[in-house]
Amino acid sequence: FVLIACAGCGQKSTSLQDFSGEEFIMNTLVRIQVICEDEEKGRKALKQAFDVFRKIDHLTNRFPEGELATSSPGDVLNINGSAGLKPVKVSVDTVRIIQRSQYYARLTGGAFDITIGPIMDNWGFGKGIQYVPADEEISRALSLVDYRKVEADPGKGTVFLPEPGMSLDLGGVAKGYAMDEAVKALREAGMKHALINAGGCVYALGTRPDGEPWRVGIQDPRSNGDIVAILSLKDSAAVTSGDYQRYFEQEGVRYHHIIDPSTGKQARDLIQTTVVAESATDADILSTALFVLGPRRGMSFVEDLPGTGAVLIGPDKLVSVTAGLIDQLTFTGNGGYQIVG
Ligand code: ADP
Ligand code: MG
Repeated sequence: FVLIACAGCGQKSTSLQDFSGEEFIMNTLVRIQVICEDEEKGRKALKQAFDVFRKIDHLTNRFPEGELATSSPGDVLNINGSAGLKPVKVSVDTVRIIQRSQYYARLTGGAFDITIGPIMDNWGFGKGIQYVPADEEISRALSLVDYRKVEADPGKGTVFLPEPGMSLDLGGVAKGYAMDEAVKALREAGMKHALINAGGCVYALGTRPDGEPWRVGIQDPRSNGDIVAILSLKDSAAVTSGDYQRYFEQEGVRYHHIIDPSTGKQARDLIQTTVVAESATDADILSTALFVLGPRRGMSFVEDLPGTGAVLIGPDKLVSVTAGLIDQLTFTGNGGYQIVG
């Protein structure tokens, strides 16, 4: 192994060093690995990247814990707290996250909807007790879910939810946005090789030091720790959503955290989606959106999006892959998955 590794590195990379760190932010383990020659620069870049994740967490978190809970409320808490009352002045980051989300909400006919907050609360995701809500509870909450009602004014830098009880939940996009901003910070610090993994949201900056693309495993959604395929990545993001990341079980049924806004209930036509794109924000939004759209509508939607690839896995273990992504994928053959199309 050592011999192979050395042969792969070559002479010129002998002075390269690996700086890695992990911190628990945004309810997930954020792992950042940077590889560069200069120790001081590498450590500084690493710290800046973690700072970005913490900043976006503060802006977007609906249920702050620990240090966040004692600091001043972030934008999403302020927006939700002022629903039906008044517009709230927010940071440029928050406006950007909302605008991008709204763009995809329109494109997907509301499959992605950041006003999903009241429904998430119903099911007890985020806080409270997790249980299956009665249909009346769901329809009451659903009446508050509609991305078209969000009034975001980029000129004034304000956001307003016009009805009391409405609430934003940026859980389907915030990690991706934080990722893009962290990558920007790493690039500005001169980093040429880095890999970030934030709970299924991955970004490969540049190549590995040996010039080869980074390789990232796509998890087996039904066997923790196994992988279905290996994805080659360079200067792009791969974001995975699954029905096993946050869920509870009641009477043998799994209730997970990706909700179809048209029903207020779990989207069930897929069990895992992976989206590859240059922007982690887009990939994050789309992994959630495709999960809701399901294999048929999801594939026809994503095949039309330039520069975007997807791997969709259904409950029947059938795997759909966009044509442009095939060359970047190596299937392991594990787990009995079958590629269709
Ligand atoms: P993870 O947070 O595990 O990475 P996702 O990116 O798929 O997974 O995001 C799921 C989160 O997105 C949920 O916890 C919730 O906050 C939010 N969400 C759930 N359903 C939707 C939806 N239809 N549209 C927008 N956001 C959603
Ligand atoms: Mg997402």
